[in-house]
Amino acid sequence: MVVLGGGPAGYTAALYGARAGLSVLLLEKLSPGGQLATTDVIENYPGFSEGINGFELAMKMKQGAEKFGAKSKLAEVISCSLAGEIKELQTKKETFLAKTVVLAAGAVPRELGVPGEKELRGKGVSYCATCDGMFYRGKTVAVVGGGNTAAADALYLSRLCEKVYLIHRRDALRASKSYHGPLEQAGNIEFVWNSQVTALKHEASLTGLIVSEKNTGNEQEISCDGLFIAVGHVPETALFQGQLALDEAGYIPADETTRTELPGVFAVGDLRKKPLRQVVTAAADGAVAAYFAEEFLSKKS
Ligand code: NAP
Repeated sequence: MVVLGGGPAGYTAALYGARAGLSVLLLEKLSPGGQLATTDVIENYPGFSEGINGFELAMKMKQGAEKFGAKSKLAEVISCSLAGEIKELQTKKETFLAKTVVLAAGAVPRELGVPGEKELRGKGVSYCATCDGMFYRGKTVAVVGGGNTAAADALYLSRLCEKVYLIHRRDALRASKSYHGPLEQAGNIEFVWNSQVTALKHEASLTGLIVSEKNTGNEQEISCDGLFIAVGHVPETALFQGQLALDEAGYIPADETTRTELPGVFAVGDLRKKPLRQVVTAAADGAVAAYFAEEFLSKKS
């Protein structure tokens, strides 16, 4: 079994697969954990009543899988062939062959689409508060978005920065209620409702934003040193296009069994079409995929 992606879904599939006696190789392109590793505190993964740092949890998941014999390798899969009985996954240096594959490549932050965004990435524009927040200690930053990521980022940054603007295109957050109280109580978070960022002001790096109010069309300039973009995620499924049907947003349709339309290929975690994307639901997918992968292999032999 080859597992493509080392987030919570991938490492759980690897753990369950290896513990069931399969020969498991997990391929990860960057570092263990995926999005989990860039999360400051996970408070809603059962068993950690005090919360746990995302990277620490990711390392525990990796160690848990390796304890049962799963191997992991840092390697980026650049092409794959999933339809045949033997599936092939190519990296720059090697080709891996597998009888069953678990697709666990996750999702990446969506770009806002404002002019200059790409050029200012790393020069004031960031997609990861826990990775880059420390560069803005004592400074003023803005977060754009209204979901759980934006809420968590704004709270995290409020503890480091002098001031945080939370800019959202509607008049209410989509984020879970559990974030609302802490955001209001932080004392240094200012909400900018019904507003879109329309331009980035900069010299060598970001100096401010132009923000347009939806109802009046009024524009205001917000001076800030950093902009954290948290406007959702897009699934990492481009590699599978043409081999697997994707939905209109790029997710892989697979039901609760995590089976895809291709025999022996399973889709787990944030790239699967499903209603709730959390660490716990990603981990659950991984367990289910390993169960059905094992069943698939035992029927073949
Ligand atoms: P999300 O829930 O899809 O929220 C994206 C936010 O960005 C929405 O508020 C959306 O506005 C806004 N948005 C989208 N496109 C925009 C644009 N072009 N301009 C301005 N705003 C835009 O994404 P997410 O917050 O990244 O969360 C992704 C998944 O991870 C979710 O399932 C979430 O529950 C999970 N997650 C969970 C936790 C947690 O449980 N603690 C923490 C982080 C992430 P509208 O509201 O108007 O649509």
